[in-house]
Amino acid sequence: MDDYHVIIIGGGAAGLTAGLYASRAHLKTVLLESMIPSGQAYMTEMIENYPGFPDGIAGRELIERFTRQATRFGLEIQQFTAVDRVEIAGEKKIVHAGEKRFSASAIIIATGARWNSLGIPGEEEFIGKGISYCATCDGAFFKDQEVAVIGGGDTALEDALYLSRLARKVYVIHRRDQLRAQKILQRKASEAPQIEFVWNTVVKEIRGEGVVTTLLLEDLKQAAQRELAVSGAFIAVGQRPNTDLCRGLVELDEKGYIITDQDCGTSVAGIFAAGDCRKKGLRQITTAVGDGALAAAAAERYIERKP
Ligand code: NAP
Repeated sequence: MDDYHVIIIGGGAAGLTAGLYASRAHLKTVLLESMIPSGQAYMTEMIENYPGFPDGIAGRELIERFTRQATRFGLEIQQFTAVDRVEIAGEKKIVHAGEKRFSASAIIIATGARWNSLGIPGEEEFIGKGISYCATCDGAFFKDQEVAVIGGGDTALEDALYLSRLARKVYVIHRRDQLRAQKILQRKASEAPQIEFVWNTVVKEIRGEGVVTTLLLEDLKQAAQRELAVSGAFIAVGQRPNTDLCRGLVELDEKGYIITDQDCGTSVAGIFAAGDCRKKGLRQITTAVGDGALAAAAAERYIERKP
């Protein structure tokens, strides 16, 4: 069994930053990931809200740069189909990944989250070509255009309000006639002249040629279908953390996000969580990077304190 100071599970922005900090602190560190490079940032066509890149940077390039920087300081990256489980064996944590076992004093979980998808025709095909799951990431590409937001929760209305400052028109397409979102967001959205609600309606298909041009809508009350012309659609039908591995290991909230303290420590000493998989207020690359640094520094202190 290979022994490390730190094992990082997950190779997105949070995991790679934790890897950079831990390796640079001369901790023997391995990062385990199923897809290399990976993470939601890697899938994002253009990132305009990560400081230091005034003209924006492709998500792919940013994550490749993170990887090069972390490995320059000695981070070891190993690719696995999946990490199966984490076992606590006294002071050590054992990570089981297929046939392999790794042990370490500290573990950083940075497994991220994924947006729920609608699973309708055209959705996957047009990701990055009009379909987005993140208005603050991609909204600026739709300046003065007509877009749709699908969903009726806080994310959908926050997205719609954000987009209403950029786009000419924002349709909020919701499957019911009542919103799940907080009242204050509902009031703001109903007062925004650019926002129009399309109630009791689901999107059946996303259509286009190279880029999105229309959505096929179905009015559930009238049982009638029609096409709506838009150049973009933001899908905001919830998100779920990649924390199946953590069930029964560390404390999770009711949605499955890992509960941490201010230094990214979990309910188990020596296990830390960083990035979108942990419970927090803003899930962006900037905050993932901050988490990665905090978690690695906390892991270093934990290892130093141990007898
Ligand atoms: P959410 O609260 O789960 O809302 C998801 C929305 O999508 C609901 O309106 C739901 O409709 C709709 N939906 C789900 N599946 C659908 C499908 N297959 N087809 C069509 N519509 C579908 O998710 P969220 O808005 O991302 O929020 C997640 C959590 O983060 C919530 O706890 C929220 O309060 C929190 N959050 C808070 C803030 C804030 O405090 N500022 C901002 C963002 C998020 P139904 O209503 O019919 O179920």
